[in-house]
Amino acid sequence: MKTDVAIIGAGLAGLALAYDLRQSGCDVQIFEARPRPGGRIEALRTPLGNVDLGPSWFWPGQPRIAQLIAKLGLQAFAQYASGQVSFEDSGGQVQRGVGFASMEGAYRLSGGMVTLVDALVAQLPAARLHLGCPVVGVSENGTVHLKSGAQCLAQHVVIALPPRLAAATLAFHPGLPPSALQALAVIPTWMAGHAKFVAVYEQPFWRQMGLSGDAISRCGPLAEIHDASGPQATPAALFGFLGIAAADRLGHAAAIKAESLAQLARIFGAQAAQPMVTALQDWACEDYTAIAADHTPPMVILPMVAPRL
Ligand SMILES: Cc1cc2nc3c(=O)[nH]c(=O)nc-3n(C[C@H](O)[C@H](O)[C@H](O)COP(=O)(O)OP(=O)(O)OC[C@H]3O[C@@H](n4cnc5c(N)ncnc54)[C@H](O)[C@@H]3O)c2cc1C
Repeated sequence: MKTDVAIIGAGLAGLALAYDLRQSGCDVQIFEARPRPGGRIEALRTPLGNVDLGPSWFWPGQPRIAQLIAKLGLQAFAQYASGQVSFEDSGGQVQRGVGFASMEGAYRLSGGMVTLVDALVAQLPAARLHLGCPVVGVSENGTVHLKSGAQCLAQHVVIALPPRLAAATLAFHPGLPPSALQALAVIPTWMAGHAKFVAVYEQPFWRQMGLSGDAISRCGPLAEIHDASGPQATPAALFGFLGIAAADRLGHAAAIKAESLAQLARIFGAQAAQPMVTALQDWACEDYTAIAADHTPPMVILPMVAPRL
């Protein structure tokens, strides 16, 4: 196989690049390890609509993502932030109206961030996107080596992977200098060590209680909770980032789900314990996203709680 540009990774970076290159007349081949495109962009797909399991938001002042969304004809809507914010202390006591809605002013995509992925994939001829095709190495002459043993010879190769994942998992021929490998290895992969719990409901009952769906907890297991509903509250959903370190989450999915529902009920009332469906997405367990170094976040962006699983 030969091409102008071989792209390794069909996350947003790889797909958006393929879209731009094809618009300027370049031939591309894109190789994706997972059986699905999107990388860190993923959704819980329900009959009522999608709920984000990876990224949810973009912000004013980010012209590139805004332009891409406009070009693809996708619909943005404002993150729901009306009503009181809740705060749960380390003893599980809940206070209302404490703090501010931290994601007020952010935007979401109707149908979830996966609509961005779906729209980009729809622009690519199927023969250009190779799913389930992990790349294992790259040679200086532009040869991309696939795990299957097949090769692709390209004039240019773009590695659209998290840098430290590329350094840890790809073989470079000739090998990269240690300083280059070290420079790649120290770049943290944003949110790779985190996990999201999502609960989908028939109604956004918290809104009717005058609550925004935003909560901060020192008790856990969820450290930061937000309204994850679609436009017009369809589907109605809450999500929380786990406040438990990646190593302490391993093997505890069932307990985490049960404790997360109990916590949502403490904060938002008994209805919160009766979702239609839930999902737990632990990105730290995803081999094509995180390496061991990502299990320790580069900085504390979420309050950590003591695991009680
Ligand atoms: C829980 C969570 C919440 C987030 N929230 C936000 C948010 O609200 N707003 C925001 O702006 N950002 C957010 N982010 C970050 C955002 O998701 C990423 O910045 C973005 O999706 C990165 O896209 P990417 O294409 O660069 O990388 P990735 O999405 O990581 O894509 C890399 C691709 O390469 C593939 N791959 C890996 N190894 C190989 C291989 N050997 N061969 C072939 N393919 C390979 C992977 O499967 C993947 O598809 C969040 C991330 C997470 C996990």
